[in-house]
Amino acid sequence: MINRRDLLKAFCAFPFLTFLPGVGKAGNIVDFPQLKTGYAHRLKKILAAGGLPYIDIESSCNSTKLDIDYIAKNMDRLNIGLMALSADIGEGRFKKGVRFDNLSEKLLAGYPDRFIPVGNGGQPPALTEAPDEFLDAQEAAVQKKQMMLLGEFEFRHYPSPRQVKRGEVKRDVNIPIDGPIGHRVFGLSEKTGMPFQIHYEVENELLAPLESMLQQYPKARVIWCHLAQIRYIERASRYTPAYVDALIGRFPNLYFDTAFGDAGSIYPLSNQRHSRVWADDGGLKAEWRDLIIAHPKRFLSALDLGGDRLNRIAEYDYKHRNFLKHLPVETRHQVAYGSAWSLLFGEDFG
Ligand SMILES: [Zn+2]
Repeated sequence: MINRRDLLKAFCAFPFLTFLPGVGKAGNIVDFPQLKTGYAHRLKKILAAGGLPYIDIESSCNSTKLDIDYIAKNMDRLNIGLMALSADIGEGRFKKGVRFDNLSEKLLAGYPDRFIPVGNGGQPPALTEAPDEFLDAQEAAVQKKQMMLLGEFEFRHYPSPRQVKRGEVKRDVNIPIDGPIGHRVFGLSEKTGMPFQIHYEVENELLAPLESMLQQYPKARVIWCHLAQIRYIERASRYTPAYVDALIGRFPNLYFDTAFGDAGSIYPLSNQRHSRVWADDGGLKAEWRDLIIAHPKRFLSALDLGGDRLNRIAEYDYKHRNFLKHLPVETRHQVAYGSAWSLLFGEDFG
């Protein structure tokens, strides 16, 4: 649960954080109870009309090119309940000194019943070239109660399929999760209760450092994005449904989002079908389905829209719903919105 009293205490103790470089003068304190009322109303309205709303816990964009009304309209058209749409700070703005993007404030000003305030994408160049300044700015926004979650922080990130298509194969992020940046992010979550998202490719040798961090920061609330997205199967023999099940048993604050490709999606650099949940008949593999059914509160809906694919929202929605429909009704509702609700508000939806 977000401990608001502690956040307020921390803010009172460090009011100077407001004036850190890059934070700017933006930053109204977000009224969480008021937002919660609006969110609940919207979700219930969609449910009452017979739709299945979901909470997209992980999408991102370039805020300078974002058409907010277009996204909002499509959310209505597609019955998308809520969206945590984070801003990525691109190369150009990074060079101009931007370390914090107050997109969430703009989103809430226009559509307070559908956007979840979220920190900025932790990716190059911000997280790799100016990690302290970037994290100072994110932390300041946390202390000022401007957001409900952080991320997505890219610790290990292969070039995405779309980057490969564009020939941008040089982007190959490798930040040790148990290095200084990892300790700072996990520590911030531990201290404030703020959940955060990580992008962390599945590789055998990366598992031990992550487990070690989860052990050292048991109160850190971690969303490991892209369940069972394995780009190179030969590097990931240890990652199985049984392994994920064991992690869930050991770490009560570990969550997984379900932003992964469809059954035919191929990772171009390995030529492998990287979404490992799918069976040959187009359904979910029983062992992954059973895992989700056994621990529905740990799995979260997510679209993973990005700056280069916001116009494909209907296609992403269709694919995500195709995944959800393979789950039993109760599990489907839990994964679609129930899990994110309890993660954000510390109580069951209803
Ligand atoms: Zn990701």
